[in-house]
Amino acid sequence: MKFQNSFWRSSGVLAVLVLESLPLQPLVAAQSPAKHKHAQRPTKQKSVAEPIWDLVITGGMVVTMDRPHRIFDKGIIVAQGDLIVAVEPSTRAAIEQYVHAAKQLIDAKGKLVLPGFINGHTHAAMTLLRGLKDDVTLEEWLTKSIFPAEAKNVNEEFVRWGTRLAAAELIRGGVTTFADMYYFEDAVAEETKAAGMRGALGETILDFPAPDNKTNDAMLEYTEKFLKRWQGDSLIHAAVAPHSIYTDSEKTLKDSAALARKYNAPILIHVGETKKELNDSREKNGTTPVQYLDKLGILGPDVLAAHCVWVDQTDRKVLAQRQVGCVHNPSSNMMLASGVAPVLEERAAGIAVGLGTDGPAGSNNDLNLMEEMDLAAKLQKITKMDPRALSAQAVVEMATIEGARALHMDKEIGSLETGKKADLILIGLDAPNAVPMYDVYAQLAYTLKGSDVETVIIGGRVVMRDKKLLTVDEPAAIAKAREFRIKIEASLK
Ligand SMILES: [Zn+2]
Repeated sequence: MKFQNSFWRSSGVLAVLVLESLPLQPLVAAQSPAKHKHAQRPTKQKSVAEPIWDLVITGGMVVTMDRPHRIFDKGIIVAQGDLIVAVEPSTRAAIEQYVHAAKQLIDAKGKLVLPGFINGHTHAAMTLLRGLKDDVTLEEWLTKSIFPAEAKNVNEEFVRWGTRLAAAELIRGGVTTFADMYYFEDAVAEETKAAGMRGALGETILDFPAPDNKTNDAMLEYTEKFLKRWQGDSLIHAAVAPHSIYTDSEKTLKDSAALARKYNAPILIHVGETKKELNDSREKNGTTPVQYLDKLGILGPDVLAAHCVWVDQTDRKVLAQRQVGCVHNPSSNMMLASGVAPVLEERAAGIAVGLGTDGPAGSNNDLNLMEEMDLAAKLQKITKMDPRALSAQAVVEMATIEGARALHMDKEIGSLETGKKADLILIGLDAPNAVPMYDVYAQLAYTLKGSDVETVIIGGRVVMRDKKLLTVDEPAAIAKAREFRIKIEASLK
């Protein structure tokens, strides 16, 4: 076996299948794109195809999640740079054209190949606070545990390590894109980028002092710098995250939206999470949280609303009209006893509903999106007393293409289609829990686990290969999390 420099990705540690290990045949089909820089013409073996394609994944069952829901029992996916340039059945012609001319080849035989999962709502750095206090009311959790713990412990270093740990967990579970709201979001963005992940990341804006910025003006100033810094980045979509209507005044909400719109940035916000939020809004604003936000001019096709539990029929019409994306967080809604989001009615109204874990602290406590698929389906079934309520296929859509629509990123991600980002995952089917398989969507929703994800590719870059993380120093992040626990516990005594 022989490696050429150009075979190595930036991570530098990939075991790459080289062309010599494949049955080779003289090739005529593959034509080199003119702009391609790295293609090297082999000097000794004249019959060997010139390696053209950056990454070829071959032989797996490809679940595209495209509009016709195409599934190829044996498919080929080709990535050039960070884009998918071909998704097709693994025919002899396709093998000759792509497999024999691959710079990097991944054999997906016996595995599922899917678009990467999208976790639509997290506070990623809170990994370091998971399990600190559970089984209490949201108010008690916030006032007695989380706010004091955050006030004493959350600084840039905390956010960095917490996000790094979260990135490891997210990648392991097949998540390639996540939407996050926290503090020191610039550090979140740096860690996300370093992990090779895609993120819609919003600096949280509140009417009380946050760990990083103490006033509204400071928060907006920080956020503007943050938006400017990440403009045009291929992985990071810098966002503005006014926390909610119960933590932000009318002025703060409007200022946040204006700032986001000045930079074409997404707006991330909690909406209609609890009955208390609804009741308080009716009392204070004379209307529901959704209609109040609409009256302020906040809602639009750039808004991602987490939860949308307490939304009535008029709210749903408004959300659909304004093309707001909703994120359903079944674990969080159950754990905090917030209520059951009317997911069926929201989807029927034409709202794109994604899936999120929320948390991870206090409201989940992990970042396992496959578990949310399972719970989302079952929560609707039990609430409607109808096993047909929300199907396996529907929740897989919510974790992929519909999640992408909710994030308004469906032109870029969410399905395996030519022209979209090469964000995809390989899921193993050899575990006892993975066999036999009759229906791929049912297997994904109810049977397979996050731990069955083996390989993760984001923007054409392999970030996990055969369960080995390549972009995050996982042992260091785990050791650091244990250190933080000792520090955080001591700070609360
Ligand atoms: Zn949240």
